[in-house]
Amino acid sequence: MTICSSEEIIDEFELLTRDARRVQQDTLRKILELNGDAEYLNRFNLGRRTDSKSFKSCIPLCVHSDIESYIQRIADGDDSPVLTGKPITSLSLSSGTTQGKPKFLPFNDELLESTFQIFRTSYAFRNREYPIVNGKALQFVYGSKQVFTQGGILAATATTNLYRSQRFKEAMKDVMTQCCSPDEVIFGPDFHQSLYCHLLCGLINSDEVQFVFSPFAHSLVHAFHSLEEVWEDLCADIRDGVLSKRVTAPSIRQAVSKILRPNPELASSIYIKCQSLSNWYGVIPTLWPNVKYIYGIMTGSMEPYLKKLRHYAGHLPLLSADYGASEGWVGSNINPTLPPEEVTYAVLPNIAYFEFIPLEKPKWEETEICSSVHYIESEPVGLTEVEVGKIYEVVITNFAGLYRYRLGDIVKIAGFHNATPELQFICRRSLVLSVNIDKNTEKDLQLAVEAAEKLLAAEKLEVVDFTSLVDRSSEPGHYVIFWELSSDDGASEDVLSGCASCMDLAFADAGYVGSRKTQTIGALELRVLRKGAFAQVMNHYLSLGGAVSQFKTPRFVSQSNSKVLQILSRNVTRSYFSTAYGL
Ligand code: AMP
Repeated sequence: MTICSSEEIIDEFELLTRDARRVQQDTLRKILELNGDAEYLNRFNLGRRTDSKSFKSCIPLCVHSDIESYIQRIADGDDSPVLTGKPITSLSLSSGTTQGKPKFLPFNDELLESTFQIFRTSYAFRNREYPIVNGKALQFVYGSKQVFTQGGILAATATTNLYRSQRFKEAMKDVMTQCCSPDEVIFGPDFHQSLYCHLLCGLINSDEVQFVFSPFAHSLVHAFHSLEEVWEDLCADIRDGVLSKRVTAPSIRQAVSKILRPNPELASSIYIKCQSLSNWYGVIPTLWPNVKYIYGIMTGSMEPYLKKLRHYAGHLPLLSADYGASEGWVGSNINPTLPPEEVTYAVLPNIAYFEFIPLEKPKWEETEICSSVHYIESEPVGLTEVEVGKIYEVVITNFAGLYRYRLGDIVKIAGFHNATPELQFICRRSLVLSVNIDKNTEKDLQLAVEAAEKLLAAEKLEVVDFTSLVDRSSEPGHYVIFWELSSDDGASEDVLSGCASCMDLAFADAGYVGSRKTQTIGALELRVLRKGAFAQVMNHYLSLGGAVSQFKTPRFVSQSNSKVLQILSRNVTRSYFSTAYGL
């Protein structure tokens, strides 16, 4: 039966979550029954057992590198039951920006179905607070290329797999709002041209647009930043009904030209509105007066973009989208009125089997927020056994051949909805900065950048994006933080060197502070980049097959990532060393 109305979807969700414990056992049983022939499970002598106790005692926890060779065999065309009973016919390419390189992950119909369920659930809750009636959505969605592996398996980013799927379109037509842009724009061969046309189609439909969406907040900010640069061209296109020459891809040109008609009245109203804005504050409600909210993932590594997004959004609420990964979905945002900083995700107990590795801070590290090695791990617990206020790493067993797979994300249990936990996303587990005994994660880095950014406020400047590396080219090694600022001029030398010192002091873990005091870690260095440097970094990742929709700026660049290092190095304009611990 297809569940259509929001109330029916919510009722179904309530039923599932009330009985989360049993639903989890059933889900595991189903996964193991479907995949009883899988070589991976048989290697660990699970036999045909489907209970959680046998499963946990036979199958070890794993990370991507443990199963990479299995996935490679699938990519090479091995259609025996490697990870799943039924052969895997498509692969997802994770963004790779969180871990340095894109990874292949198995994708199948069951994962697709779980996507529908997650989207429908959050849409139903959202719609209760902010009803969307016969409107359209301005969606900044970009498909990546679909490629076939040597073995003939289809590989693309998870977003592409989704938007390409006919099933997705059919299953979601009751609950998904119509996108302003034709498919040719989403799947265009050039992201800059697609972005331009998303904006154009959005403006043509400006009165009908009821919400603005992109999978991650980064691409929302990127889109409106581009609008600042191309608005006059967009107005000219609408005035004359002729698409700008910058759009050269025939597929996009043809599709957009069909919907573009000369409309001087609309063009001049957009022109006047753009001119009336002060520094583009509130551009979204100004140009799209019927928009009710802005939607996209805004937690975790997307938090640094919130300030800019709020600037563009004016009075409109920002609603964070759901929590998941190319490995599978985890939870829905069922409290859409919460600001992104407080958002939690309710786990859907039938989309996968979840375990949580309890992480505890040793007593001597009370101040630490998220440094991985400072956590003491204990045995994983089940979905309904987690405790409010505690911190865990998420482990997923899904329908597409991942068994007890460590997702690498740290979450905090904020509460329960019926019997299912509501998770607050804390950060990625991976360590970013370490010279010796110091350990700092992307969250620690984010907090340090935020602390120093306050010093820029007086100069009316903002940090547009940032990343970091450990420089060991001279002794002792030191942290390098790269900043791209909202303007290439303006910041005084004193302020920027103050920012370097401020970040140096903001890394407060005992290992860092101790090493700085004894000068076994050198002074933190702030390197300021030319405007547009991070756009070049993104373009580099896109050239590796990534999709803009899933792009996350890498917060740490390793020495082996020579291409990104080159981009950063050639864009450095100035550099400042901290004086926080003396020279
Ligand atoms: P990808 O590699 O592109 O599949 O990205 C998956 C990763 O994005 C997850 O493992 C998380 O670290 C991050 N992510 C996904 N959804 C959210 C969310 N709602 N909040 C914070 N981070 C998220």
